[in-house]
Amino acid sequence: MIDPCSIEANGLISIEQALQKIHHSIIPVSECERVVLKNALNRILSAPVQSAIDIPPDRNSAMDGYAFDSQEIKPGQPFILSLAGTSWAGKPYQGSLKKGECIRIFTGAVMPDGADSVIMQEHIEKNELNITFPATTQTKKNIRAAGCDIKKDSELISAPKKLSAIDIGLLASAGIYDVTVKRKLNIAFLSTGDELCAIGQVLKPGQIYDSNRYTLSGLLSDNNFNIYDLGVVADDKQQLENILSSAAKTHDVIITTGGASVGEADYIKEILDKCGNVGFWKIAIKPGKPLAFGKIKDCYFFGLPGNPVSVIATFHKIVEPALQHLSGITVKKSISITATCTDSLTKEKGRQEYQRGILTQTKSGEFFVKSAGKQGSNIMSAISRANCYIVLASDSEGIAAGKKVVVEPFETRI
Ligand code: AMP
Ligand code: MG
Repeated sequence: MIDPCSIEANGLISIEQALQKIHHSIIPVSECERVVLKNALNRILSAPVQSAIDIPPDRNSAMDGYAFDSQEIKPGQPFILSLAGTSWAGKPYQGSLKKGECIRIFTGAVMPDGADSVIMQEHIEKNELNITFPATTQTKKNIRAAGCDIKKDSELISAPKKLSAIDIGLLASAGIYDVTVKRKLNIAFLSTGDELCAIGQVLKPGQIYDSNRYTLSGLLSDNNFNIYDLGVVADDKQQLENILSSAAKTHDVIITTGGASVGEADYIKEILDKCGNVGFWKIAIKPGKPLAFGKIKDCYFFGLPGNPVSVIATFHKIVEPALQHLSGITVKKSISITATCTDSLTKEKGRQEYQRGILTQTKSGEFFVKSAGKQGSNIMSAISRANCYIVLASDSEGIAAGKKVVVEPFETRI
C-alpha cells in the first residue's frame, strides 16, 4: 500500500500525498437507485435531469395589475380601457382581449391572447369598469415568457451533484417525481480499547468513557450513508480480527479508532497485515499523525488514532474527502479565509497543524481569530468551543499575535 518513493526521510507523508494516494485507490460506487424527490435531499444525482416542460409553462404576469395590448397606447397621453374580466393564478381569463379592453390580472396568472403588456395596479385609476392608464404607461413590461426559466428538453441539473434543498425545489418546479441517485454507502465504525466504558455505566478505575463512537456517529450522519455502530472492541487480537473480517464482507467502509499506533496493545496493524492490504502512514499533520488506510477484501478501511481530537481532525481532513469520492461526488475543498490572529500560537516545525480557533467577523467585515484553548489531541472542550481550524503550514514555527493566519471555518455561518 505504501509507495516508498513518496515517503519523506523522516517517515512522514504530507497530507496532500495521503489524499492523493487515497483518491487514487478508491473506486467510486457505480450502483444507482431511484428515489422519490422528497427522499432525494443531499443524495448524489447520478444522471442529468432534463425538463419535459417549459418553466413557466405559460406566458404569465410578473405582478398584480392590468393586462393590455400595447397598440392601445396613445403616446404622451393617458388612455381608458374597459375592464373585460380577470385572469387569476390557476384560473385564466377565458377568451382573448378585444379592442378597447383590458383584463385584471394577478401575479402568475396566464396572459390572455391579445395582451402583451401589464401595468402595476398602483399606476391606474379605476372608475367602475373604466380603467385609466397614465401617459407614462410602458409597453411589454411585467410579463414572464413561457420557458424563461427553463426551456422544454433543456438540462435542469447536471450530474453528479449533491442535491440541495434548492435543487429539490427546481426539480419539483419541473414536476420531476423521482430521480436516479448513487446508492448509499454502508459504513461500519467501532472503537477499540480495554479502557473504554460505555456511557450510562459507572467508570471503573482506569476507565474513560468511549466518546469517539458518538463523535463518529455524528460526523457520519449523512443521507448518503447507512451507518452501523459495531460498538467497543477490547484490545483482543482474535475478537478484533473476527469483527473486522466479518464486517468487511457486508460494508463498503470500516472506520476504527484507537489501536493504530505502536503501543503494546495496538493490534490493528498485526490483524490487518493478516487479513487485509492496509498501509500504516504517519501523516505530517497535527493532530492525527498515525493513520491506517487500505482494504480488507473489497471494503475500505480507515484506522484513525484514538485521541478524540485526532479522530475529528483526521475525519475532516482525510476520511470526509475519501467518502465524498467513494460516494461518486467531486471532492469539495474547505473554504479558507485570512484572519488576524489575536493570540500568539506556538508550534514546532515539521507538521501542518490544524489548531482549534474561534473566528469572529466585525461589522465592517474583518476577520479575527483567537485560540480556542489548550491544543492537546485529548482536549475535546477546546474543539467543542472552536468554530474553525487555524491552519499553520509545516514549516511554521508559530506566529506572533497580530499576524494574519489561514482559517478554515467549520460552518458557513459564524
Ligand atoms: P490509542 O490510539 O488506542 O493508543 O489511544 C490513544 C488515546 O486515545 C488514549 O488515551 C485512549 O484512551 C484514547 N481513546 C482511545 N479510544 C477512545 C475512545 N473511543 N473515546 C475516547 N478516548 C479514546
Ligand atoms: Mg488503545
